Order: sequence, then structure tokens, then C-alpha cells
Amino acid sequence: MKTAVVIGAGPAGLSAAYELRRKSKDWRIVIVEEDSVIGGISRTAVCGRCRIDIGGHRFFSKSDEVNALWQELMPIQGHPAKDDLMLDRLCHTEPGGPDPEVEDKVLLRRHRVSRIYYLRKFFDYPISIKPATVLALGFWRTLKIGCSYIRSAFFKREEKSLEDFYINRFGKVLYSMFFEGYTEKLWGIHPSKIDPSWGAQRVKGLSLWKALLNVFIPKGGKKETSLIDEFVYPKFGPGQLWETLADRLRADGVEIMMESRVVGFSVDGDRIVSVTLADGHRLDCDAVFSSMPVKDLVAAIGTAPAPVAAIAAGLPYRDFITAGLLVDRLAIRNKTKLKTVGGIVPDTWIYIQEHDVRLGRIQIFNNWSPYMVDDVTKHVWVGLEYFCSEGDDLWTMGDADFIDMAAGELRKIGVISADEPVRKSVCIRLKKAYPAYFGSYAEFGKVREWLDTFPNLYCIGRNGQHRYNNMDHSMLCGFLAARALLGEGNRPAVWNVNAEEEYHEEGK
Ligand SMILES: Cc1cc2nc3c(=O)[nH]c(=O)nc-3n(C[C@H](O)[C@H](O)[C@H](O)COP(=O)(O)OP(=O)(O)OC[C@H]3O[C@@H](n4cnc5c(N)ncnc54)[C@H](O)[C@@H]3O)c2cc1C
Repeated sequence: MKTAVVIGAGPAGLSAAYELRRKSKDWRIVIVEEDSVIGGISRTAVCGRCRIDIGGHRFFSKSDEVNALWQELMPIQGHPAKDDLMLDRLCHTEPGGPDPEVEDKVLLRRHRVSRIYYLRKFFDYPISIKPATVLALGFWRTLKIGCSYIRSAFFKREEKSLEDFYINRFGKVLYSMFFEGYTEKLWGIHPSKIDPSWGAQRVKGLSLWKALLNVFIPKGGKKETSLIDEFVYPKFGPGQLWETLADRLRADGVEIMMESRVVGFSVDGDRIVSVTLADGHRLDCDAVFSSMPVKDLVAAIGTAPAPVAAIAAGLPYRDFITAGLLVDRLAIRNKTKLKTVGGIVPDTWIYIQEHDVRLGRIQIFNNWSPYMVDDVTKHVWVGLEYFCSEGDDLWTMGDADFIDMAAGELRKIGVISADEPVRKSVCIRLKKAYPAYFGSYAEFGKVREWLDTFPNLYCIGRNGQHRYNNMDHSMLCGFLAARALLGEGNRPAVWNVNAEEEYHEEGK
């Protein structure tokens, strides 16, 4: 029997194993995962009786097969969730679906509410110009925004950087208020030094003009990616779905080796013939699906020509720290018409545009799933997100100091009051959360070309392809790679996931 080694038990690796097992019983499949938890970046971490999602993962895809697998593993709720019941709130249930109050394997239907917090006030995300915005910004700021937008509409810049990309679509004033500082926080580099392709992918088609139109667009009309507002979400966070898939795979004979890090490969001619683990163990193999970072993969193979090795070694990433804080109440008030348990703000997450803190985003897990919180009637469970680089001052700060700093920032910007106690906390560091599109990335094609010289190696997923892939893209990479191995597709198709012009999340 032939052996396929799958590196990584995140969405990409699990999906490759799933598809290969579904289509063929002729392969022994071994998933090798360095962590002790299934799910990669989209795992759920546990903190006492609360659960934390490292990021806040919306399950949304325009791929039918991705949606079908999600719903096969965990059906959509057929009855209201805890908060819907408490609020007597209308919710969009699926006939015959499970009751989340009784069953655990259930996907909740949630609404995305996300706003920008700036000048200690809330603004729509993406920014939209309507009377409330003008009121919050003030007349003069709004006038300046308008004038600079008109200027940018007539005098288009050549798009050499992300800065040019944003200014052409939003004008310079709006760009400096809402994009410049946040982008620098996120990437640790000024937008004038970032390739415009990042913006082309993430905010495709958005502009101030479309932001205006979206205020008036009827529900069900064609909406841009960043404005999609319903998504599904596992009762206990994203990791629950990946753990369910892993259980299914184990039952189907797939081996999953946890806490096993791949550190080397043996090559015979143009084929990879074995994978070496950190404990010295060797796994002979006939095919490899790799969702480990390209940078580490090229170094671990070790036979790349010097220029290729240098490009791979120089690939940039942004790391990430999230601090979970359990508090009794928030100081910010819910002034929307949306009903919430305890009257908390209805946002699933909030972009922090305040220039006097390093905090990037706040997740409010009560609004993702009431089952992520020990008691939604008594507590608010928030995730404070910081973008950083491995080894910098944030990364090396001790956990207790980090929690103090994070809580201090929440108090400073008025999200919690000065005397609000923190009941429970956790600090989670995540390496290589964001593959970045600057530095040696411009020459990434040469690395891909070299990796493609191994006919039995399939690079899949987010860091596996060094692409800003979401969970569904990572899954599609896994599906297509398994099919390519079985001769039902080709390897270029695997690289092409999420590479075409139209952005995948855009609703049908
Ligand atoms: C803050 C944030 C928010 C996000 N929000 C969303 C969202 O709302 N919706 C969405 O769809 N996506 C979202 N994403 C993206 C999502 O997390 C990723 O697309 C997805 O997890 C990628 O899956 P993957 O399998 O490709 O990679 P990963 O999740 O990175 O999994 C790779 C796995 O490989 C393992 N590994 C790495 N190196 C080795 C090695 N040498 N040996 C063995 N194992 C190894 C890792 O431990 C990991 O488990 C978000 C990401 C972030 C950072």
C-alpha cells in the first residue's frame, strides 16, 4: 500500500486527507501535526469554562462542496440558540436541524456586526457616509473627506503601493483616518511599502462610492465580500468543526500523529521518499501534502538552489497575540436597535482605529456563540487582538504583563471602565498568522517553480502556499490536491485556488 503524508492538521491538511480517503482506499494516510490541538490557526482554545477563537472565524464560502461538508459534519441549527431564546429574537433556522440547547454538533447562523471604533465613537465598517457618520466625524472633517475624495476621483495615482490603491478609492483624508494607521498596525510596515495586490484581493471592488451605494442596496442584492453579513459558526467555535472532521478521519483509518514536527525530507531523484520528524522518526512516503509554511518547507528539504532558498528564507509573516479577558460589563453602550443579552454592543468584532493604543481588534465572543462563554447573563468574554512580529516587545512580554497592558488599553479607550475587574484571562501567541506580500514575496514564483519540480509534493493551504487563504480556500486546496494525486485534476489548479480575479467569499 502506498503512503501519503499530510503535514498539518488544519483545514487544508484535514481536507486533503478527507478527499483522498473518500476517493480511494489504496492509500495509507498519515497526518503529522506539530501542535497538541487540531485545527491550525482555526482551532478553538479552552480557558476554564470559556472557549476562545483565535481570530474570530466566520464560516462563509461560495463553494458548494465546502458548504456541503461543513453541514454534513455539523448541521445548521433547527431551533433557536440560547441568546435567541432569551431575547425572543427571530432567527433563521433550518427545518429538521438540531437544537443547540440540546445537541452540541450544530452550526449556528450568526449575523456579522462589525464596526470601527474611532474618536471613542462607532462608525460603520467599511466606512459608509450617512448622516450618523457626518454627525460623528463633524462637519469639517466630512467636508475634507469629500474634497479629497473628489480630488482622487479626478487625479488617479499610478497604483504602485497599497497606499495608492486606497487613496484612489477613498481619497487621502479618509485613507489617513481609517486605513493608514490600521494597515501599519496589522503589517508592521507602512502602506506605501506594501504591494497593491494585497488590497486588490482583500477589498476588491470596494470604494467610497460603493460604500455609499451599500447603504441603499436592497437585502439580497449583490454585495461585496467585506459586506456579507450572515455566516455559520460551530456552537463551540471553529476548532469544533475541525475536531469533528479529525474524528471522522480517524474512524476511516487515517492516522493522526499529534505533537510531531516535520523537520526534514529525503529526496531520491525528483521525488520525496521520506519525511523526518523532530524525534528522529522517519516516515517513508509516496506523496506529501504540505500545509507547513513554505519558508520552513524549503529549508527542511534543503536542496534548493541558493537564490530560491534565499527567497523562501526571506518570506515575511506577521504574528499575532490574542488576550482573552472575562469581564462583568462593558462601558460602551448598545445604541443600535439590535437586541443583545445584557444590553452589550451587538458587534461580533470591532476594528480599533484609535491612534493611542496598539490594540487592533476586539472580538466579543458572546455574540459569536453564547456557548463560548461560561455565563452570558453575567459575563462578557472579549478577545483583544494584537499584530506583532516574533521577537518584538509585544511577543516577548510575559503573559501577566501582557494581560495588564491589554486591560489598560481597554480602559484607556473607554471600552471597560477604570475599575472593571478582569475575572479570567488567557494570552495566546500565534506564529505566522499572516503570510505577507512584501519583501521577497515579489519573487515567490521562483520558489513555486522549484517546489513544482517534485511531482509528488502538493503545497496546500494558507502558509503552505504563502497566500492569504481563508478556511474554505485551504479546504479547496486540499480537495484539489488529493484529486490531482489520483489523476483527477492537475497541480496548477491547486495553486490557482483564491488566485483568480473574483474574490471567493463574494456571495452568489
Ligand atoms: C486573525 C485571523 C482571523 C481569521 N478569520 C477567518 C475567517 O473569519 N474566516 C476564514 O475562513 N478564515 C479566517 N482566517 C484564516 C484561517 O485561519 C486560515 O485560512 C486557515 O486556518 C488555514 O488553514 P491551513 O490548514 O491552510 O493552515 P493552518 O491553519 O495554519 O494549519 C497548518 C497546520 O500545520 C501545522 N504545522 C506547521 N508546520 C508544521 C511542521 N513542520 N510539522 C507538523 N505540523 C506543522 C500547524 O501547527 C497547523 O496546525 C483567519 C486567520 C486569522 C489569523
